[in-house]
Amino acid sequence: MRPRAHKVRPTRGEVPSGPESLLILHAAELLTLQGPSGPRIREAANELAVIEDGAVYAEGERIVDVGTTSDVLARHPRAGLQIDAAGRVVMPGLVDPHTHPIFAGSRAREVEWKSQGLSYSEITARGGGILHTVLETRKASEEDLAREGAKRLRAMASFGTTTIEAKSGYGLRTEDELKVLRAIGQAGRIAGLDVVPTFLGAHAVPPEFEGRRADYVALVEGTMLEAVAAHRLAAFCDVFVDEGYFSADDALGILKKARQAGLRPRIHADELSDAGGAVVAAKIKATSADHLNHVSPEGVDALASSGVVAVLLPASSLSSHLPFADGRRLVAAGVPVAVGTDFNANNWSESMPLAVALACHHNGLTPAEAVVAATMNAAHAIGREGDVGCLEPGKQADVLILDLPSWHHLGYRLGGNAVEAVVKKGRVIVDHRRAP
Ligand SMILES: [Zn+2]
Repeated sequence: MRPRAHKVRPTRGEVPSGPESLLILHAAELLTLQGPSGPRIREAANELAVIEDGAVYAEGERIVDVGTTSDVLARHPRAGLQIDAAGRVVMPGLVDPHTHPIFAGSRAREVEWKSQGLSYSEITARGGGILHTVLETRKASEEDLAREGAKRLRAMASFGTTTIEAKSGYGLRTEDELKVLRAIGQAGRIAGLDVVPTFLGAHAVPPEFEGRRADYVALVEGTMLEAVAAHRLAAFCDVFVDEGYFSADDALGILKKARQAGLRPRIHADELSDAGGAVVAAKIKATSADHLNHVSPEGVDALASSGVVAVLLPASSLSSHLPFADGRRLVAAGVPVAVGTDFNANNWSESMPLAVALACHHNGLTPAEAVVAATMNAAHAIGREGDVGCLEPGKQADVLILDLPSWHHLGYRLGGNAVEAVVKKGRVIVDHRRAP
């Protein structure tokens, strides 16, 4: 159900200056994330640029002014909608840089199998795993996929996410990959969120190509990629580089062709084993290298010298029973680090605040680094740093109001939801506040 915006009432300014203006004021802590425009590395990855008793003023979709409440009020004394955020934390909308939200069916029954200690190949042999989701998704209509996807995106928004990267990869046939990518766009429009689409035809080798990986790679980098590019359905192209999936050489070939077709490269790298994913991500100057649970020292150095953003996905380490990526080592080496949910059929987790907390407890990030990883650095990981990830004049008015006494609680609280309101492009799209 669409959140009802009318519960938020103007707290001041009986004569609104226009319905298109918004003033959030008296935030106990306003996290602006203002600073240099590049991804934040090393010490800068801890800088949140906090303003006490802070205010944000927006007109239409964009932020116009940010500062202390007294300064902003002096410049912009009234607004169409004023929200008093006294005692609250106000920060940029969260950016989830890695999700797979469009699929049919579920993998709920596999949890019992996991709890019995079955391996991934044993689960696959029982008819589970990614290929189960592929078969279900191929049977589903585009409309049903978009409708279910929109529900998931809205759930993400209810936890504070306002911009989402979303991958295909459960179709694995040209028509089905196009269907999933169109459903991604439609789900974003229904949910009212910014969605950055990624073509992931190289997610797994589908059953009809069993034993013929090279033939499937030729299909992905040929017909499939051409169709995706011709319909302008994706901004990025991704490859799952790992044992049993695709090789670093496969990725190099696919991503070179993708770049020629106008898609930016990114890579699922070194999740299950060190398969050279990070090294090839650096070689091709990918925008991001994601997972990195088993990245080699050589891979870390390559990421640091190439500026590729490392995307950590601790919730999927949890649900796949894998070791957590060493975020501390990546930050120390000077790699820009982002964090995402990896929402997918095997890891049903919509909550970026949970990912932030897990990144603190299991990836070795400080709470401040984890907040930067979920905002500014996540925006860089999906090429949206010009619009989102911080609160400064000119950026989109994507703002969260959190019922927390301090931002430190973002790393501390596990699994609840402190979101009180979510503003997307200047409009309240989620309102969890109780009517007085
Ligand atoms: Zn993934």
